[in-house]
Amino acid sequence: MIITLKKNAPQEEVDRLHRLFEERGVQVHLIQGVDFNVFGLVGDTAHLDERDIKANVWVENVQRVSAPYKLANRMFHPEDTIVSVGGIPVGGNEKIVIIGGPCSVEGREQICRIGREVADCGADMIRGGAYKPRTSPYSFQGLGYEGLLDMAEARKETGLPIVSEIMSADKIDEFEETVDLVQIGARNMQNFDLLKAVGHMTKPVLLKRGMSATIEDWIMSAEYIMAAGNPNVIFCERGIRTFEKYTRNTMDLAVIPILKERTHLPVIIDPSHATGDWKLIEPMALAAIAAGADGLIIEVHDMPEQAWSDGAQSLKPEKFAQLIEKARLVAKAVGRDL
Ligand code: PEP
Ligand code: MN
Repeated sequence: MIITLKKNAPQEEVDRLHRLFEERGVQVHLIQGVDFNVFGLVGDTAHLDERDIKANVWVENVQRVSAPYKLANRMFHPEDTIVSVGGIPVGGNEKIVIIGGPCSVEGREQICRIGREVADCGADMIRGGAYKPRTSPYSFQGLGYEGLLDMAEARKETGLPIVSEIMSADKIDEFEETVDLVQIGARNMQNFDLLKAVGHMTKPVLLKRGMSATIEDWIMSAEYIMAAGNPNVIFCERGIRTFEKYTRNTMDLAVIPILKERTHLPVIIDPSHATGDWKLIEPMALAAIAAGADGLIIEVHDMPEQAWSDGAQSLKPEKFAQLIEKARLVAKAVGRDL
């Protein structure tokens, strides 16, 4: 970290800051110029906050040389992390994973029926929300624990791992016992208590991008989970809020190469929430595979017009099967298996 002090900063203040930084456990190199004094801090600066340092009236500028995240940083962990979800490897050069299923679990028969269909299409995992983060308190809120048990039944019938969203830390035990991949939704990406709680779980975490989160905010959320002890984090881009109204969100595909350069964690794409329109799912899914995604999570419903949530962005099983066939060709073209 490089800290430039203002012109004519008093010597007592320079000395005080020098001691303060040393007390924080970093090596301090002071360059005393004619007009300016510059501190070069070397070592673990992750716990120093640029904004706090800038609060000092004698500080002109603070510049970070290294990223504020350590555990997620590829610099300290050059090899790709491969996250095992119920025995299925995600990331590295492993097979691209396809996750399909309804937005919401609507009952045991429904999730088992759709689960069997996505399994027949060649999916690797089943998704389904039991606790639903809905914009309106009057919309269907999910079946809760019953829904998780219904998902577990779908796993039993198909043999596929299951993915479901957790919304509060008091449900940790339920999720630890039932699901294979714990989803943190966009709305909870910066619910730091929840991030710490899933950091104590043994199950891997699918960390969706917050609607207005920068890439650095998102990586810092992964860092929270990892710092609490859970190294098995998978990023999931699900679109961000922009001025554009033609799509529900704007799908940001540049995150794939950026996250892969900056971190060692797998990245998957959710073209359902990113577009909000079933017709856009296939082209966006193919683009994601071409850009290097490690997987796709797609909403699938056999009767989208009757779905209890997100029917407009759900593919029918036939269309889901066609998408997988096309995605296989794109995967092959970029040297991956699917
Ligand atoms: C979901 O996966 O159904 C969901 C609510 O996702 P997001 O958090 O991305 O909106
Ligand atoms: Mn949904």
